[in-house]
Amino acid sequence: MLGLMQQQDLSVSSLIDFAEKHHGDVEIVSRRMEGDIHRSTWATIASRSRQVANALDQCKIGQGARVATLAWNGYRHLELYFGVSSSGRVIHTLNPRLHPDQIVWIANHAEDEVMCFDMTFLPIAQQIHARCTTVKHWVALCDADKLPADSGIPGLVSYESWMSHQSTDYAWPTLDENSASCMCYTSGTTGNPKAALYSHRSTVLHAYACALPDVMCLSARDSILPVVPMFHVSAWGLPYSAAMVGAKLVFPGAALDGKSIYELLETEKVTLAAGVPTVWQMLLGHLGANNLRFNYLKRTVIGGSACPPAMIHAFNDQYGVEVLHAWGMTELSPLGTLCTLKNKHLDLPEDEKMKIRLKQGRAIFGIDFKIVDDNGKEQAHDGKAYGDLLVKGPWVIQEYFKQEGASPLVDGWFPTGDVATVDADGYMQITDRSKDVIKSGGEWISSIDVENIAMAHPDVLMAACIGMAHPKWDERPIVVVVPKPGKTVVREELLKFYEGKIAKWQIPDDAVFVESIPIGATGKMLKTKLREMLSTYQLPS
Ligand code: AMP
Repeated sequence: MLGLMQQQDLSVSSLIDFAEKHHGDVEIVSRRMEGDIHRSTWATIASRSRQVANALDQCKIGQGARVATLAWNGYRHLELYFGVSSSGRVIHTLNPRLHPDQIVWIANHAEDEVMCFDMTFLPIAQQIHARCTTVKHWVALCDADKLPADSGIPGLVSYESWMSHQSTDYAWPTLDENSASCMCYTSGTTGNPKAALYSHRSTVLHAYACALPDVMCLSARDSILPVVPMFHVSAWGLPYSAAMVGAKLVFPGAALDGKSIYELLETEKVTLAAGVPTVWQMLLGHLGANNLRFNYLKRTVIGGSACPPAMIHAFNDQYGVEVLHAWGMTELSPLGTLCTLKNKHLDLPEDEKMKIRLKQGRAIFGIDFKIVDDNGKEQAHDGKAYGDLLVKGPWVIQEYFKQEGASPLVDGWFPTGDVATVDADGYMQITDRSKDVIKSGGEWISSIDVENIAMAHPDVLMAACIGMAHPKWDERPIVVVVPKPGKTVVREELLKFYEGKIAKWQIPDDAVFVESIPIGATGKMLKTKLREMLSTYQLPS
């Protein structure tokens, strides 16, 4: 027997409609590229997102077409989030920190039809526009009078002249909740990046989950500052969750330094902020150096890479801010676990509580996880046994875009590539990454990209790239090289060889020369062994 309830597909449009109707006067504050503070509201964002939809109609952008952004966190990006998805197109957030060649590859693979970019990224747009073969419309996210006359990009229009004269009326189409709403590429460890394609359903369910009390505990009383970028995994879904609960949003734009973030936290009375550890390191540095305190900040979500214990201590003990350590990944929209205490922990001594807070946390309702050994056998939840972490749930990918039929799942579970323990209370802790991608300042560096460039050097026989712990950037890459017999490779010359081939920050900090790189049974480099070989190695200072 079927239930007798209304059948209504979950949709991104319902989020912006709700925010407009019930929280229309709530502020959306953005620090703009120009440096000034811009103030909008959910009602204005909603009305301008309908203008975006009309502008896309006028450009004859079809249903399901990809509309790409190269943009910081700000109100125009938010309007695109809702205007693009609600009207049935797919917002594709590109990571401007990638090398322009990688951006071109991704934009062509995604078949982006519109490219909206912040003026900061004009030089990137100028470099890539001729090679982005599917993009028909280039839109600079600025006022009409800020558009350079000689951009070199044919047909370039300013966002304001493109959308602001459009009607503010638009009837959102009724969409199948399984239709795509948003797209984000991972930096693949094996070859080219892969795209996660989120649906309206997965996005709304993820937004519900993020808002739960034991997750980010979001409400209409919050003022939320996502430092985590809207260009990667939808700023952890915060724009959607904020619309769902009617929270105020505060966007930092391009100014991510400690002083600028602190200013916004105070002037906008921010109660919750979210970001990767590197950003918080800069903020804590600023507070310490200037003897400052937080007057409003209550919680901070830290994730993307492991949060160092000293940071959790500093926020908690020095500043009275609760750290919510979170784990997730692009393929999970991205949230998988978040660390909050249970009732039975409340009377524990502080140092016992802290031991729990350091972990990546408990599963959120909707996400199921398990840890398994090499044979797929589930490992004990005793906080000691570790295994490959597998997940499943309605906001975990089923397949990658354009790789349909080649399911990454193992018996219905998505292998995360992370290695973890789980304790008896269900708290998961990442112990290692099984893959070798390097994370620097919250951004991925593909070890394979780095290796391939070294291997293109005429005198290099073999190259392996590994990450070395770094006090500021978490990790920095080094390249370990075996020269061809009878050849010598000069360190400085090899590092120079990288220039122009990948982004500057992806270039290894050092090149180390060895006679051989350990090879495993399947012919793959054994990086764990290589790390052991280099256990006393120190990065150049
Ligand atoms: P991304 O897809 O770029 O979001 O990266 C996802 C990966 O980042 C995960 O598979 C983990 O390896 C790593 N990661 C994310 N959050 C954490 C965390 N809190 N602690 C340790 N590693 C993390």
